[in-house]
Amino acid sequence: MTHAAAIIDGKAFAARLRQTIAAEVAALKAEHGLTPGLAVVLVGEDPASQVYVRSKGEQTLEAGMHSETHRLPAQTSQAELLALVERLNSDPAVHGVLVQFPVPDHISQAAVVAAISPDKDVDGLTVANAGRLASGLPALTPCTPTGCMMLLRDQLGDLSGKRAVVIGRSNLMGKPMAQLLLAADCTVTIAHSRTKDLPAVVREADIVVAAVGRPQMVKADWVKPGAVVIDVGINRIPKDDGKTRLVGDVAFDEVKAVASAITPVPGGVGPMTIACLLANTVLAAKRLNGIGE
Ligand code: NAP
Repeated sequence: MTHAAAIIDGKAFAARLRQTIAAEVAALKAEHGLTPGLAVVLVGEDPASQVYVRSKGEQTLEAGMHSETHRLPAQTSQAELLALVERLNSDPAVHGVLVQFPVPDHISQAAVVAAISPDKDVDGLTVANAGRLASGLPALTPCTPTGCMMLLRDQLGDLSGKRAVVIGRSNLMGKPMAQLLLAADCTVTIAHSRTKDLPAVVREADIVVAAVGRPQMVKADWVKPGAVVIDVGINRIPKDDGKTRLVGDVAFDEVKAVASAITPVPGGVGPMTIACLLANTVLAAKRLNGIGE
């Protein structure tokens, strides 16, 4: 017997979260004279990055925050980029510094991440914040996994004791996701391209988080009936009419007959990322100004 999974509406959840953030920003302005500020740096003209950066700027302003976008030409040297990051690190109007990746090949992504002040690292990518998260200390945590946790808590409440399988082990997604689930007292497995018998590993899970970048890889017979499935993947595949469409890492149409809840692509995890970026910027602004959480 099949049943229909709940479709997790990340778009609506993110809209509510942005409203809560806007209210908090208004209170910070009124009570502390503090306007949280986010600086986004884009090097070059990657079309997808341009769309992301524009959305980040717009949503920052809509939340009543200070927004600045620094667009640098593709031939910008690493030294010039690091000098800008340094300047933003010490600018009191800026509480979050985000360099949009990928950067051009002549610039080291690791060097850029290392230059960002951990206190303003709203992407949660610095070694300091990754280490703090792994050590159970207060940290700025990467936006997409933070958004996935919010959706999971909304769906399941207490996550304690759940078996969670994260597919993917990137520093941006898989590893911090696993750390956040562990901090929520899940029993966590991290799977990756060398995992043997991945379907059997995934079948153990009450919670499946797919962050792979392979279209519709996770099939219905990989998923334990009643599991909650969070699909982080964003993949573009061709349609019959020659255009393309977005799909996730999960075969949504078949898995939704097995799971108890599932995020769609688009409209699931994706919208949570920028909302969590705004939340991280507010958190950073409060911590930098000694305002309690
Ligand atoms: P990534 O850095 O390319 O990492 C992909 C991970 O998947 C790697 O750990 C890789 O394993 C693993 N993998 C690849 N093929 C596999 C296979 N056949 N079986 C099992 N594991 C496999 O990607 P990412 O940055 O984590 O992003 C993952 C996906 O999420 C992408 O589609 C990306 O576009 C999407 N994403 C979405 C958002 C958002 O919604 N806002 C944010 C971030 C990422 P190895 O380590 O062994 O190579």
